[in-house]
Amino acid sequence: MSERVIPLVDQRIPTLSVPAKAFEAASRISPNGLLADGLGRPLRDLRISVTDRCNFRCSYCMPKEIFDKDYPYLPHSHLLSFEEITRVAQQFVAHGVQKIRLTGGEPLLRKNLEILIEQLAALRTPEGQPLDLTLTTNGSLLARKAKALKAAGLQRVTVSLDGLDDAVFRQMNDMDFPVADVLEGIEAAKAAGLGPIKVNMVVKRGTNEQEILPMVRHFRGTGVVLRFIEYMDVGATNGWRMDEVLPSAEVIKRIHAELPLVQLDPSSPGETAERWGFAGADGQHDPSLGEIGVISSVTQAFCSDCNRARLSTEGRLYLCLFATQGHDLRSLIRGGASDADLASAIGHIWQGRSDRYSELRSELGPDTSAPGQRRVEMSYIGG
Ligand code: SF4
Repeated sequence: MSERVIPLVDQRIPTLSVPAKAFEAASRISPNGLLADGLGRPLRDLRISVTDRCNFRCSYCMPKEIFDKDYPYLPHSHLLSFEEITRVAQQFVAHGVQKIRLTGGEPLLRKNLEILIEQLAALRTPEGQPLDLTLTTNGSLLARKAKALKAAGLQRVTVSLDGLDDAVFRQMNDMDFPVADVLEGIEAAKAAGLGPIKVNMVVKRGTNEQEILPMVRHFRGTGVVLRFIEYMDVGATNGWRMDEVLPSAEVIKRIHAELPLVQLDPSSPGETAERWGFAGADGQHDPSLGEIGVISSVTQAFCSDCNRARLSTEGRLYLCLFATQGHDLRSLIRGGASDADLASAIGHIWQGRSDRYSELRSELGPDTSAPGQRRVEMSYIGG
């Protein structure tokens, strides 16, 4: 096994300013909900990172060796305030965003997050509809916060859980955090009505693949939707290797061998997960047994209908999970830009988007980022 090379530099990446034409009268873009990028994909899903910090050190996302006590985390003054986040989110919603996912780092570490959730929950689409407001968490603080999150207006949660075996789970989070607390958090979220709850498990061949069937047996028939995520070459610090990827097709095969599955249709355009329902005695999907999903960025790229934008906690707009640069919206916000300026800036940035990293990885092989360009860290923009 070759030694993993760990670069010891600041992980953040270059920033692009917003194209000047965004503010010229002749080329201003006003929101009409029909915005499309360079590949014709609409803007429907906004992921907002509210912190670059986390209390876990999952090796595929935030390896302890790099994200240690000396790592230059963002000072609070650099973070967008809740009011700034809501103002930007309003412009994304005007452009067609219908779903907002709060992420991190670990979003529940951000103090008084309920205040932001209340503000975002009050937003409405141009048609007057409430947003689909959700959050991805490692579940460590969920048992304490579930009720307050629901009361603030959060609709549902996705919990990251990479195994049921306590030793495996502690190894995966690398902070010796017990699995029992996360399971308690999931129960608290259920009791608070934060559903349907999804549980995401990153599968790393040779590390936690033995947890696939125990996880399925545990969540089958409980209403929780378990999804298996292929281990990805996100960022530039996790030492990713293709031979540690367990393809989703193999995951499905292993489960099907014990608990027959039937493929289901996507529930919404741009959905990242491929859905599989548990079959009943008649071989058809039995909804009371529930379903699972697989998210296969490495072996079955889904860039063709990717409608997701990502806003970092310091106000940089990223157009892909594997981006190597982001657009600085914070300077606009703090530089006195009007809402119309912000909307036009977002419009121009999205129109210029042609990202399709996973497709390129499939066509050209791993690491298709431009030479010398670093991919943004997942802990910085959320998964
Ligand atoms: S690789 Fe980028 S463009 Fe493709 S699905 Fe993921 S985020 Fe979207």
